[in-house]
Amino acid sequence: MSQTETEAPAGKRDFIRDIVRADLAAGRTQTVVTRFPPEPNGYLHIGHAKSMCLNFGVAQEFGGRCHLRFDDTNPIKEEMEFIDAIQTDVRWMGFDWGRHLYYASDNFELLYDWGEHLIRAGKAYVDDLSPDEIRAYRGTLTEPGKESPYRTRSVDESLDLFRRMRAGEFPNGERVLRAKIDMASGNINLRDPVLYRILHAPHPRTGDTWCIYPTYDYAHGESDAIEGVTHSICTLEFEDHRPLYDWLIDNLPVPSRPRQYEFARLNLSYTVLSKRRLIQLVDEGHVNGWDDPRMPTICGLRRRGVPPAALRDFCDRIGVAKADNLVEVGLLDHCIREALNLTAPRRMAVLHPLKVVIENYPEGRTEELEAINNPEDPAAGTRPVTFSREIYIERDDFMEEPPKKFFRLAPGREVRLRYAYFVTCREAVKDESGEVIELRCTYDPATRGGNAPDGRKVKGTIHWVSTATAVAAEVRLYDHLFTEPVPGAGGDYRDGINPDSLTVLTDCVAEAALRDAAPGAPVQFERQGYFCADSDSTAERPVFNRTVALRDSWAKIQAKAEVKAGTDYTVKRADA
Ligand code: ATP
Ligand code: MG
Repeated sequence: MSQTETEAPAGKRDFIRDIVRADLAAGRTQTVVTRFPPEPNGYLHIGHAKSMCLNFGVAQEFGGRCHLRFDDTNPIKEEMEFIDAIQTDVRWMGFDWGRHLYYASDNFELLYDWGEHLIRAGKAYVDDLSPDEIRAYRGTLTEPGKESPYRTRSVDESLDLFRRMRAGEFPNGERVLRAKIDMASGNINLRDPVLYRILHAPHPRTGDTWCIYPTYDYAHGESDAIEGVTHSICTLEFEDHRPLYDWLIDNLPVPSRPRQYEFARLNLSYTVLSKRRLIQLVDEGHVNGWDDPRMPTICGLRRRGVPPAALRDFCDRIGVAKADNLVEVGLLDHCIREALNLTAPRRMAVLHPLKVVIENYPEGRTEELEAINNPEDPAAGTRPVTFSREIYIERDDFMEEPPKKFFRLAPGREVRLRYAYFVTCREAVKDESGEVIELRCTYDPATRGGNAPDGRKVKGTIHWVSTATAVAAEVRLYDHLFTEPVPGAGGDYRDGINPDSLTVLTDCVAEAALRDAAPGAPVQFERQGYFCADSDSTAERPVFNRTVALRDSWAKIQAKAEVKAGTDYTVKRADA
């Protein structure tokens, strides 16, 4: 390595990186090993992106490694579909676990042996209480728990029962293996936590081999130790589990000594990030699947057209802290715009078409004009766009009686057609109901390319699409899935589902260059926003998702919106 081993080249500072830096400097750690440990019971979301950026990021920056570990200890909810999707998403985010792909289930045999080890050491016992009784005996935050009558059964009896649990002699819920710690502990997690439960259910990886499964708390820290993880970084809700994490590590013959550190999970305004809720949104049909572009899942964001670089940039900007906060979703939009501005080719598309006939342009004639692909990137070059006597413009680029600051088209007014000519509106043609259905205009042939030789100026430039080469398209506009900054703060989060989160425009037209847009490839529709073709596109009919509007129409509302009092949320703003 060229830089010193204890310096993160990117220069990122946060309390986790400070700990790692100090451990390396003091020689407590030789090689940093982290892990990203999803449970394969759903798809990854943007909160997981934060965890990935932290775990893979720290490993990269300090010359260590990061494992991908599936925390697959609950076969009832876990599926191969999720295991595959998670790997796709982690790779897409730009992270590489190399050969370090692990499963908690790889350790089931060893974890079982260590269960017997604890029994023999008098530190675990088989309990016959029912799940309800165990709950009742556990006590509360203010009252100590009560010891199970089975707590004092002999080592031999517990060993025998544990083996018979494994052999499948008992039905679900009849017995559990519990650690023998302290039923009076102030920390409820230490009141003889369950280590193993009986679950007659096939596992996606181990099939029918097991009918007892380790709990998360038991499997997680031990998997860390088995893999040689040095820094086990998790979210704050596990802070109270850390004493149990340490107790298990201290009482088992583990090959290494990992330490757990907790950081604040990502909370995003107008968004839910709990897997339980995301599963509900999918199962109850509030969205069209996990990859619905309104979902905060990685696959939803990808389908919406969000580039992984924008997510990594977002995670860098929000940083890593120890206190819970609420991140303004506008910051994410800002990062998306920043990333796409550099890379997305510009195209013209009209979402609400209004036909324009240019009366002095010869019928049947077309010509090609040169349009710039990306003003941010000269190397992106130019493309031809077809001009003709009939074109479409955006309905709201015309007003019959324009207010003061409206500089677009109006009767008698001249504007520039982007990359083309100046046109002047001569007449608005209406239907019986009085709605404008067509504009009659004239153009000035001397203004080809967009400038008048006589130096006269126009105030407005509008985009357009020639009817001669227009591609009919569907465009899907997305808004936040929730109307409340903190969904569910005042009751059921589902009550705040935004009924207008999806708007489907079926009569859009796009310039010919958009005919074969590859799904997922970003484009900017000039003056409107960033879009990408959706996987629903066909050769005849492309479908575009709006990834993000050019300027955030919500920004003003959000600036005023006050995040609910009584929470210690702080708001990060895009422009702060
Ligand atoms: P959820 O709370 O959404 O159901 P989870 O914690 O059950 O998520 P896991 O699959 O266990 O989901 O998470 C894998 C890793 O991602 C864990 O280390 C977890 O702490 C972290 N993680 C989950 N949600 C967030 C979040 N919102 N912000 C940061 N990290 C998160
Ligand atoms: Mg979890």
